[in-house]
Amino acid sequence: MNVFEAVKQSVTTRQAAEHYGIRVNRNGMALCPFHNDKNPSMKVDRRFHCFGCQADGDVIDFVAKLYGMPSKEAAVKLAGDFSVSYDAKGHSPPAGRPGRKSVRGELRFRQEKQWCFRVLSDYYHLLGKWKTEYAPAPEDAQWHPLFVEALQKQEYIGYLLDTLLSGTMEEKAALVAEQRGEVIRIEQRISGYAASRHERSRLARTGTDGR
Ligand SMILES: [Zn+2]
Repeated sequence: MNVFEAVKQSVTTRQAAEHYGIRVNRNGMALCPFHNDKNPSMKVDRRFHCFGCQADGDVIDFVAKLYGMPSKEAAVKLAGDFSVSYDAKGHSPPAGRPGRKSVRGELRFRQEKQWCFRVLSDYYHLLGKWKTEYAPAPEDAQWHPLFVEALQKQEYIGYLLDTLLSGTMEEKAALVAEQRGEVIRIEQRISGYAASRHERSRLARTGTDGR
């Protein structure tokens, strides 16, 4: 995909306008930067259109006009400012496969990675809490299972989080693929824990208030 297509697909004019300091109101209207506008008369969404001066176009036209630069330059600027990857000589292509399909695949991967990270970091914090909350007293013959789980798992989960944060693209992709099942189990584990905790505190409340 070339830079023009990539940018137009990824960045709306509204996002660009706001990024470059133009205030857009709730109705998607802004003061037109291309004529002496007193009231917001420019509609900005995916494209833009000014009802005052008839300026009109897509996000690349908008930035080209705003900065007085050629379209190609505007597209490259947008790609840089919004981290849009694209294929072109002299620029690094997005991890391999070009085309529409890979953009969707990349998006799916990113969402999955974020989901993994969210679940794992929730779990990591929970383990940290269990480690102190259920720490055994010296006289305890048996350790609380949640404390044991924290001891067993926290370091490993921390390692997975580190990889998701600072690993290479390949390491992250491998982790997401390998841990998918485990992350689903952890997600269920966390919601099961939250539910049982809620149930316990409900029982405790009705137990004391009820009779
Ligand atoms: Zn205008």
